Parts: sequence; structure tokens; C-alpha cells
Amino acid sequence: MSLLKSIPKIDKFVSKSCFDGYSINLITKISQVVIENLRIEILQNNINEINEDKLVEEVLETYKELVAPSLQKVINATGIIVHTNLGRSLLSKQSLEKAIDIATSYNNLEYDLKKGQRGERYAHIVKTLQALTGCEDAIVVNNNASAVFLIMNTFAKNKEVVVSRGELVEIGGSFRVPEVMAQSGAILKEIGTTNKTHLRDYENAINENTSMLMKVHKSNYTIEGFASDVTFEDIVKVASQNEVIDYYDMGSGHMIDLPFNLSSAEPSILKIMEYNPSLLSFSGDKLLGSVQAGIIIGKKELIAKIKKNQLLRMLRVDKITLSILEDTLNSYLTNDLKNIPTLNMLYTKIEVLQKRANKLKTLIDTICKCEVIKNQTLIGGGTTPNKKIPTIALTLEYKDFKPNKIEELLRRNNLITRIENEKVLLDFRTIQEDEIEKIESIIKRVFN
Ligand SMILES: *Cc1c(COP(=O)(O)O)cnc(C)c1O
Repeated sequence: MSLLKSIPKIDKFVSKSCFDGYSINLITKISQVVIENLRIEILQNNINEINEDKLVEEVLETYKELVAPSLQKVINATGIIVHTNLGRSLLSKQSLEKAIDIATSYNNLEYDLKKGQRGERYAHIVKTLQALTGCEDAIVVNNNASAVFLIMNTFAKNKEVVVSRGELVEIGGSFRVPEVMAQSGAILKEIGTTNKTHLRDYENAINENTSMLMKVHKSNYTIEGFASDVTFEDIVKVASQNEVIDYYDMGSGHMIDLPFNLSSAEPSILKIMEYNPSLLSFSGDKLLGSVQAGIIIGKKELIAKIKKNQLLRMLRVDKITLSILEDTLNSYLTNDLKNIPTLNMLYTKIEVLQKRANKLKTLIDTICKCEVIKNQTLIGGGTTPNKKIPTIALTLEYKDFKPNKIEELLRRNNLITRIENEKVLLDFRTIQEDEIEKIESIIKRVFN
């Protein structure tokens, strides 16, 4: 029982000089928990002495864990450029610096400087999108999932939306087209079969309660073999003949043609705009290479209806988003593509990747067994599913360590690799020049 009496008093405990410089509020909160636990331990006869230095250590450890940033930098050596788990598209420093300038100052977010009256939040990116894509009008929301939801809710509440069975996708992180539709109030009208949908299926599905013909990008799968679907060009035609809306959820829309012949399979936003569609939506942080956002472009009267939907207020984007997005779109407009890291990585020549791989190899091959190999990777982020792009990788072996073990050791040092054919790979499609030396020091730290 005497031990209970020796439990430190909170006030006295937290005034120890070893807590100087820390937040007294947080130290007190943590100390209360630590000391309460101590009391329980004593009552259960689990300890027979009180070590105050140990208590201090415990408090400081918890403190440091709590205030350490949870979001950390990692090196993406997986080769997957738009890696959803690793933050999707990188932003350029230039775009971000502009955003810092805007966000740390008052600005004309919703103020018309010419007229001296309330302005439009979305106006800032409309002219750029018009110039780029030829769209009549545009709007930006929190992400593409909200774009889909907002469009459904605006035009198809209690009305039918015609979608091919082969396109009822689930995208990682619980975005399922049928469920999003149900939540929005739209009635899903499935047509065709899993592998085949014909133009006549769309035509036959249209009735007086049809609002829209929707196409959804098959972002993470392909259907091979006896399969066919209807092009968006044809869907636009049928929609306009029947006076219903056509809408393409493009997922990862891209502005310019893709390298490695990928564009034949995946037409760009500009190509799709030639069909004169009603509405398109796509993500800001997939292949477009910008910030998280959902971009909707299309006909003026339709965008005007969307603007009247109260939901827009809940899905609206901040000045930081608009500023970054504006800068990325401007880069497309002025053909300044080096300002878009995602495109830089996609277009980097194999010879450059080879050089980087050789450089790293010479830095580490006294520590690990490694070999530069030609390989293939994926763009990721729901673009061009199953289509491989060429890359260069460095294989890593260390003594008799299993690949899983090596992968884990590197991962715990924020170097994310991939394992292929029983070997750990560092893929240079996503490794930047200035990361080579960082990788060298991680490998030295891990294996020496
Ligand atoms: C990725 C994707 C979405 C969701 O976009 P977010 O920007 O992640 O919200 C919706 N539809 C398709 C087809 C997609 O590929």
C-alpha cells in the first residue's frame, strides 16, 4: 500500500525540467494516462517499485509518436506511375509554389475584379478548359467519384441511366458504379451481357423515363476474347437522336496522346470532344497529372443545371485545388509539359532509365548482387488496364535473404519496391534522378 502513496502527483510530475520545451497540455494528458496505468499495475501487484525516470521516458516516447507526422515521403520504386496507394500524381514544385502564393494571401476566389462584385469560384479554370478542349463550359468538384454522383443526382434522380453490363465497374476503395447510382437516386438500366453490348441494346433501352446513356471507362480490367462494346461516338449519336444526355465517365482522362501506341486503345479527352458529347468527367490526379479533383466538361445548359444543384456546395473545391489545377491546365495550353511530373515519367526515354539504373548499380554492387534488366510496368491509376509499358529495373539480392524479407526491410525505410519472379526490383520508370543517392544510402543502412 505504501507504493500507492508514492505515485507521483501529476502537477509535480509534469513540472519536471525534462519536460521543458514540450507542450505542457499534451504532457499532462499523456502523464495522466501513464500514471493511471501505474496505479492499476500497483493494485494488481505487478510491480514493486516506482521508477520515475522510466515514467518520464514513457511519456516522452508517447509524445513523440503522437506529434510525428504520419504522412511521410516514400520512394516509389514500383514502376507504377499513378500509384493510388502512394498518392497518385506528383505535383510540380512550380504549381505548388503558385498555390502557396495564392493561399497565403487574400485572393479573388469568388470575386470579380473587373466588376467589383461577387464572382464565380469555377470561372478560374473554365477559360483554360475551353481553350484546351473546346468545351462550352466546365465545373470542378472534389474528385471524379463526386463528379459521377453529382451528374447522376442532377439529371437522373428517379430516372433511368442506361449502362452496359460490361462497364459496371468497381474501382479500388469502394467505388462501385451501381451503388453510386443507387445513392444518387438514379435508376440503373443494365443492358447487354458481360462480354457483349450492341448499339441496338442502347436503342431498345430508351423509353420516356430515360435520362442518360452512360459509358464508364473499364479502369482496372479488360474483357478479352468474344467481346465487343459500343464506342462512345456511337452512343453520342443515339443519345442525340433520342434527345437524351450522353455521359462518359472517363476515369483517368488524358489530354494528349499517350506514348507506346496506347492512344489507339485509349482516346484522349481531345479526341472524345470531337464527337460533341453532352458531358465528360475525369480525375485531376490520374493521368492528367494534377491535384485531386473531378473535372466535368460539356454543354453549357447542362453545366448550368449542375451549378444549381445544392450538392455542388458540398463537393466544392478549395482555392489550393483550383490554383494547382489552373497551373497544370496552363502547362497543357502552353505545351510546357515538363511541369507535369506524371507525363515526364511516362515519356522518359529507355536510355535515360538505363543510365540511372547503371548509376545506382555501380553505387551499390559491392553490397548487393544486382543486375540491370529490361522489364515492363503499368501506368496505374485505372489507365490502360493490362497494357504494359517498357521500363528498366535493377534486381536486388542480398545473401540468402528471401525477396519478401528484402522488400520489407526496404519498405520500413520508405523505399517501396516490387517483387517479380522471386526477385526484388527497383523500377526506374518512377525513380527520379535525385533519388538515386537516397536509395544508395538506404541500401547501405539496411544491409551494412
Ligand atoms: C478512378 C475512377 C473514378 C473515381 O475517380 P476519383 O478521382 O478517384 O474519385 C471513377 N470512375 C472511373 C471509371 C475511374 O477510373
